[in-house]
Amino acid sequence: MLDSRPTQPADLLIRGAHVLDPRSGIDAPHDVLVRGGEIAELGAPGSLEAPEGAEVIEGEGKHLFPGFVDPHVHLRTPGQEHKEDIDSGTRAAAAGGYVAVVGMPNTTPVVDSAPILLSLREQARREARVPVGFLASVTRGLDGEALTEMAELRDAGALGFTDDGKPVHRAGILRKALQYQRLAGGVLCLHEEDPTLSGRGVMHEGDVSARLGLAGIPSVSESTLIARDAALAGYEQGRIHIQHLSARESVEAVAAAKAGGVQITAEVSPHHLTLTHDALLEELDTRLKMNPPLRAEEDRQALIAALRDGTIDCIATDHAPHAREEKEMPFEEAPMGTTGLETAFAAIFTGLVVPGVIPLALLVEKLSSGAAILDLPLTAIETGRRADLVLVDLEAEWDVGEHGYESRAENCCFAGRTLRGRVLATVAAGGVAYRERSFSVVAA
Ligand SMILES: [Zn+2]
Repeated sequence: MLDSRPTQPADLLIRGAHVLDPRSGIDAPHDVLVRGGEIAELGAPGSLEAPEGAEVIEGEGKHLFPGFVDPHVHLRTPGQEHKEDIDSGTRAAAAGGYVAVVGMPNTTPVVDSAPILLSLREQARREARVPVGFLASVTRGLDGEALTEMAELRDAGALGFTDDGKPVHRAGILRKALQYQRLAGGVLCLHEEDPTLSGRGVMHEGDVSARLGLAGIPSVSESTLIARDAALAGYEQGRIHIQHLSARESVEAVAAAKAGGVQITAEVSPHHLTLTHDALLEELDTRLKMNPPLRAEEDRQALIAALRDGTIDCIATDHAPHAREEKEMPFEEAPMGTTGLETAFAAIFTGLVVPGVIPLALLVEKLSSGAAILDLPLTAIETGRRADLVLVDLEAEWDVGEHGYESRAENCCFAGRTLRGRVLATVAAGGVAYRERSFSVVAA
């Protein structure tokens, strides 16, 4: 159940771009013809003619991927539109190459009832530039006590459930939620953090927090809750998805649960794959404050290994916009979160693909595989499929934030860094959702 505003179906000929679709095994230059929003034909470079009225995009030297799908973003509406809304959030998504995103329910009010969800979906049909889906909360008002009407929320279009921002702290409540989830369908997405361990921590607990004299959030606050919830999911035969994995111990907990046959999937964020708490030694920048926190190098290495071996199923940004005045606070007081939609591809491409740590195909695959976790169709570059595409210049270098952001917020943890890999155009749900400013499109 995804919603977006109506788009004009695209008629495009993308000439000679290197098409990389890891799932269908295409990895070579092609002409790609899009007619009426559908992929009409793939041909050898120079073999396809642009039909009357179609736009021609010179793709030579550029790469064309299946569009990215993000199962974890905060669009902040209703109630926190000073941070972001559906229009600005999906603008940012399109600029990052995303063709679908899934919004979290920790808004004001919380998305915990069918009327709130239905009005949000209606808003998405007016404003969303790329299709948007929504998760509903597990507990009413995120209070951790009383379950929402999960079956009714599913009927209203909830893709799944989460109390993201908070854990489902009481095991008995999660057990009940798993029982309902089995009946209602949809996955239970879990923010794993034991608040009795994370306490007032503002960063990863380790040598850097000790040096800075800041309260830490230990890795075990995440991994112990994953172990508990995996045991419950196994016992109830429910299906869970672990959000924003950050620690080595958490990777071990997920791997053990998978080996034991639990229906469990996991995501990792671009920032946890590319940054560590050492960045805070250079500058105590509130843009580097997020939950879960940036952890140690050994954690980062464990996350990369887990992405490679399949323990981690997908990459999710946890795009968490905040207003400038909210982040312009002392580190201890600033809210947690970083934006991520506009930088996800380039951050990981620069941090992991360029140095040869992971192959490009793995990055492309994991940026779109989140769709499957929420039972959404996987994007693919195949004849007859709706066009969900992203065109990227892998050679282009850019400074994050230099021309501002499409997002309403500017709390990006990669701000000021020079990244390689620039999204030039995004086609979402068959329509052109984004074109980079300097990128020219020639009419046929
Ligand atoms: Zn979270």
